[in-house]
Amino acid sequence: MFNDVVKSHFNYLLNLLDYYTGSCYNHCMCKNKLKYANGNHPRTDEEKHEIIENAAKAYEAYMDALGFDWRSDPNSADTPRRVAKAFVNDLAAGCYNEPPKITTFDNVDQYDGLVFQGNIKTNSFCSHHHLPFLGQTHVAYIPGKDGKVIGLSKLNRIVEWFSRRPQVQENLTMQIHKYINDVCVDNKGVAVLVEANHTCAGLRGVKHDSTMKTARMSGAFLDRKDINTRQEFYDFVRDLKR
Ligand code: ZN
Repeated sequence: MFNDVVKSHFNYLLNLLDYYTGSCYNHCMCKNKLKYANGNHPRTDEEKHEIIENAAKAYEAYMDALGFDWRSDPNSADTPRRVAKAFVNDLAAGCYNEPPKITTFDNVDQYDGLVFQGNIKTNSFCSHHHLPFLGQTHVAYIPGKDGKVIGLSKLNRIVEWFSRRPQVQENLTMQIHKYINDVCVDNKGVAVLVEANHTCAGLRGVKHDSTMKTARMSGAFLDRKDINTRQEFYDFVRDLKR
């Protein structure tokens, strides 16, 4: 009885971990399927090939169900395979690829200012409608004097790895934030701002063109008394060339 309680709490914690990292730590429970749309389960090339084969077959049935005579249309005859390949190799690549190799360095110069990387291209698609949302991500962190700094292009790679998955923007923002916060050991704060145009709002339903912004802050960026650091981040974003 006691063991069951401990076990269920342990599983609950593992699920939370899966949810916030998007990783698939809990292999036995997920049966090789991603528990969350924006999770990650690295696949070999053979496994990817098999997923593409199966997804293409399923997409044939999907197009049949929609009433398209796609087999007799030369432009659509190979569409099921094209769609499956686009999802596995590009649109949802972050679900199947290994995390980017991140090298961190000691903060030898004891730099304690903002490290900012703006306008990081962010192409994703929503888990609700599987329609693209496109925009940019702005990231900043303040390294600890005895902490770690990260190669600048790695910030782009982190955004890319997380954005190439079906998801909601709020979750994407939290995943990017958590990853950078974990990698930049002893940092004094991490800020992430994602702004994107959701085609599911522009093409269907309300059909309005609009921009969604989501932000996650920690450390100095979140400190209510330290408005300057947060303001500096937003000034950097505002001054970017668009
Ligand atoms: Zn949507």
